[in-house]
Amino acid sequence: MKAAVLRKVNEPLSIENISIDGPKDNEVLVETKASGVCRTDLHYIEGNYTHQLPVILGHEVSGVVKQVGDNVKYLKKGDTVVGCLSIFCGRCERCLEGNPALCLRNPIWNLSRKPDDKTNLYKKNESINQFLRLSSFAELMLVHENSLVKVDSEIGYEQLALLGCGITTGLGAVLRTARINAGSTVVVIGCGGVGLNVIQGARLSGALRIIAIDTVQTKLEMAMNHGATETIDANAQNIVGNIIEITNGGVDYSFDAIGAKSTAEQAFDMIRPGGTATIVGLIPEGVKIELDGVGFIDEKKIQGSCMGSNQFRVDIPRYIDLYKQGRLQIDSLVSQKLKLESINQAFSDMKTGQLARSVIVFD
Ligand SMILES: [Zn+2]
Ligand SMILES: [Zn+2]
Repeated sequence: MKAAVLRKVNEPLSIENISIDGPKDNEVLVETKASGVCRTDLHYIEGNYTHQLPVILGHEVSGVVKQVGDNVKYLKKGDTVVGCLSIFCGRCERCLEGNPALCLRNPIWNLSRKPDDKTNLYKKNESINQFLRLSSFAELMLVHENSLVKVDSEIGYEQLALLGCGITTGLGAVLRTARINAGSTVVVIGCGGVGLNVIQGARLSGALRIIAIDTVQTKLEMAMNHGATETIDANAQNIVGNIIEITNGGVDYSFDAIGAKSTAEQAFDMIRPGGTATIVGLIPEGVKIELDGVGFIDEKKIQGSCMGSNQFRVDIPRYIDLYKQGRLQIDSLVSQKLKLESINQAFSDMKTGQLARSVIVFD
């Protein structure tokens, strides 16, 4: 099968012919239909996060089940599925107390493979690493069934793919992590593939004011089209002071969809006493953020959000229904469709910051 392989940090992905094993036990072989290109993939290409190389990136994906292992009961050949990196075991403390996105087994889960088993992705004698137990920049994926949710096949594959990461992360940050109240005042920093979905989540929750911040004018326009009630150009001076002034003392909830030291600190500085800042974007490894400690006496809170604290087998089918009702926009998030061969184009376009999402489509 064809796949895009990262062999060296800061170099283009190479399109190669890779072999993939068949499914055993709880594994599922999925024919990839569409894969979104997410900033997290770029973080690994740029070395902000590290992974064993070579690796096939990609983790926002839809596809069709081609073959299932002997123990798979949940899925059968021909089912339409969305993949999510929040694989869950269903047995650990975090899973059982309702936080499967923090499953304790998630970081160590290696499909059903034993150490002496053949690796599932390989090129002749060279084994190729799987990314986040998915690796969707490839024509086929061999994944554990608990990385998949069965979905409605009437929706387009590109739309379905975006549910696997960007939409679930953005909506979940509002609906599950922060659980905002109707009437709240909200700021969203960064209006890309995740930020636009934070905005949509705030709209679904009945937020009164949704203030979108970005450096790029077209993104601010997209923000207004996805539920923002006002925008602020991040190139302006003193954004925090401006927010505090127009909201009479700060917002109830802020969301940092960028994940940088400066934006995380701004997110904390612009909330009112008792307000909550939620960090949704991925802050690069090793970066420390500094907060004004006085804020804690005002009961200001700051928290992380792991993939929107999702319960993706429950959330994604609901989001599909919201989409069908016309209350969740997905079509407008698909900025361009590309073939796997053009994947490096998707990353250079991401760096210019003009697009919501590029989606790789497979025949
Ligand atoms: Zn992602
Ligand atoms: Zn678990």
